[in-house]
Amino acid sequence: MPFLFPGFLKKAVTFSYDDGVRQDIRLASCFRRYGMKATFNLNSGYLGATGRLMHEGYSLCFDRIRPDEVKTLYQGFEVASHSVTHPDLRGMGNKRVREEVAVDVKVLEQLSGQTITGFAYPGGLYDAKLMLQLTRLGIHYARTIQSTGSCSLPDRLLAWYPSCHDADNRALELAQRLVGEKTEECRLLFIWGHSFELDKDDFDRWGRLEQLCALLGGRDDIWYATNGEICRYLEAARAIKRDPSGYLLNCSMLPVYWEEGDKRLVLPGKKSGC
Ligand SMILES: [Zn+2]
Repeated sequence: MPFLFPGFLKKAVTFSYDDGVRQDIRLASCFRRYGMKATFNLNSGYLGATGRLMHEGYSLCFDRIRPDEVKTLYQGFEVASHSVTHPDLRGMGNKRVREEVAVDVKVLEQLSGQTITGFAYPGGLYDAKLMLQLTRLGIHYARTIQSTGSCSLPDRLLAWYPSCHDADNRALELAQRLVGEKTEECRLLFIWGHSFELDKDDFDRWGRLEQLCALLGGRDDIWYATNGEICRYLEAARAIKRDPSGYLLNCSMLPVYWEEGDKRLVLPGKKSGC
C-alpha cells in the first residue's frame, strides 16, 4: 500500500516493556532524554508488590511500580494491559479472560488517565481463540515475543511480532541499518524487553540501551511513536479505499499520508467516519 507514516516519513521506532517494575523509572527517564516513545505493559494485580525474580540464572530486583506512581511515571508514554495476574491465557473461558483483561484495562485506565487498547501476551503465549477473545474486549493490538529480526510492518496486529529483544545483538545492527538506509517503503524498528533484565551484569545492558537511543534519537526522518499510535495509524492507512471513480476514501479519524508515483497527498480524517 502506498501510505507513508505521518509527515510523509518512511521510518518509525517504537519500544515495548513488560511487567511494570521499578527499573521502568530509569528506563522512562532514558527514553525521555532521547525523545523515544514507548509502551509499558502492566499487571494491575501486582502493582506495589516487592520481591526478587530468578530470570535465566540471574537474581534480579522485581519490585513493581506502585498504583499512585502510574500516572506521572508513564506520562507521555502509553500504558497497555499485560493481564491482572500474568497467567497463560490460552484455553481459558471468556469469563476468566474478561477478568484478566477487561479488569486490568479498567484499573489501568483509572490509574493512568489513558484509554487502553493495547495488550502484551503474558509469557508471549497466545492462540487464535485468545486473539478473538481480545478483539471482543476492545483490544486493538497484542504484542508477542517472537522476533522478526527485521523492520517490517506487522501483518496481524493481534499477533504483533517485534523486531527483537533489547539484548539481542541484532537490535543495534537493525538501528544502524535503519538510520543509514534510504528506503522507499515504511520501515518500523520495534524493540521489546523487561527493564529488570537491564540489571543483568553479563554486559553493560543499560549502557547499550542508552547507545541505541542515542543512535536513534533526534532525527527528523523518524517517527517516534508508541505501539498504540502505530496501531491506530496502520488501521487507518490499511482501511483506505478507492471508489470506482478513483477517489481515495479515508473513513478513519486520522489524516493518512499517501504517496503514488511522484504525487503526495494527505487524506484528511473524518470527525464521524464515512
Ligand atoms: Zn510479563
